[in-house]
Amino acid sequence: MRSLDKHITDLVEQTGFVDTHEHLIEESTRLSGKIDVRLMPCNDWAYLFAIYAKDDLAVAGMPQADLRKFLSPEVSTDCKYELVKPYWNRIKDTGYAQALRYTFRGLYGVADLTEETVHQIAEKYIETLQPGFYAAILRRAKIDYCQVNSAERIFMETAQPNILAQDLDVIDFCRCAKLDFARVNAETGKEPTTLEAWLEIVDQYFDAFGPKAVAIKCLIAYSRRLMFSPVDEARASRLFARHSTNGVNPLSSGELTALQDFLFRYCVRKATAYGLPVKLHTGYLAGSGSMQLARVRDNAADLCDLLQDFPDTQFVLMHIGYPFEKEFIALAKQYANVRIDMCWAWIISPIASVRFLKEFLLAVPANKLFTFGGDHYAVEAIYGHACIARRGIGQAISELVSEGWIERQEAPEIIEAIMRGNALRFFPNGPA
Ligand SMILES: [Zn+2]
Repeated sequence: MRSLDKHITDLVEQTGFVDTHEHLIEESTRLSGKIDVRLMPCNDWAYLFAIYAKDDLAVAGMPQADLRKFLSPEVSTDCKYELVKPYWNRIKDTGYAQALRYTFRGLYGVADLTEETVHQIAEKYIETLQPGFYAAILRRAKIDYCQVNSAERIFMETAQPNILAQDLDVIDFCRCAKLDFARVNAETGKEPTTLEAWLEIVDQYFDAFGPKAVAIKCLIAYSRRLMFSPVDEARASRLFARHSTNGVNPLSSGELTALQDFLFRYCVRKATAYGLPVKLHTGYLAGSGSMQLARVRDNAADLCDLLQDFPDTQFVLMHIGYPFEKEFIALAKQYANVRIDMCWAWIISPIASVRFLKEFLLAVPANKLFTFGGDHYAVEAIYGHACIARRGIGQAISELVSEGWIERQEAPEIIEAIMRGNALRFFPNGPA
């Protein structure tokens, strides 16, 4: 605690976050208790591990079969604890697990997951699930409001627009995977076989939700490089027609990339017309055992053409591009249309995030940074993540002051900007 400045850490503790990235399912979905492999594989305390901490458990050696059992419904608390116990001890200092421990402490009143506390955690998990618990937990985490990239809908017409602003997720419009067509079909009842009909659907989504969304969001970096070449509509139209004929003369991977290029650029133009920033996943990939690091490494360099081709579009590059975050500092420094979002980064690597924040503030104008998004499905997990982020922000600013890089009296303005003010000023259509 040597270099922490109490005045600064107190200020960070008191300042509200605008939370720029979550995947929160609707509170009513949580309260329904409806089990869904993707959204809610179980509805007990193990659910808090279902995003992220489970990946640390897997790479720490927990067998997949045990992990599946741990995250499945109708397995007793005692049995789940026995399954996780040996691996919890291995992961408990990672950002993912430290954030969970902050949640256990702050929301459930226990310092750690142990044989003695696991039943209290299990009971508190259930007790917490009351109407209004989203707002209550966000209040305790001092979060003004969240920007949600819904896992349930392309655009979620939320029951709580005052605390859950929404992104329009364009992955289903431009990736062209089977599941994307299935999702569009499920929401619209349409099965377009021509590019023209497909773009009409995209236009309808923008017409309906563009005026309500805070941004568009795309996680296409999970499946391809972030280099998007210009492709003319006639070629895209031929590719789309072939792609939609289900296996007859399938597209090569290069042809699929070209079709995605066209569709992604189309969505970027639509977003710009509606004044919506473009949020892009960059950097580390969630999960385990699948990341191609060479592709991730090229994210920042790959983006340069896009940033130059769309100078009037505002881009938000998410997750600091970890572990290549220095390159994202360079992008934000070079391009007026780039903002960096530290969402998720604090729990991937707390120390890299502290370092990043210090480097960023001395290299890039302070208006170009958003410092918090939990990137969670479960609201309880956001609480712990926000604790880690506040701790890291307090440390970074304290160190910059103690090292003489910034004046102590500058700190309040910087803290207000990076935690909330920048986001309040930048994003359209925030909550009323
Ligand atoms: Zn996310």
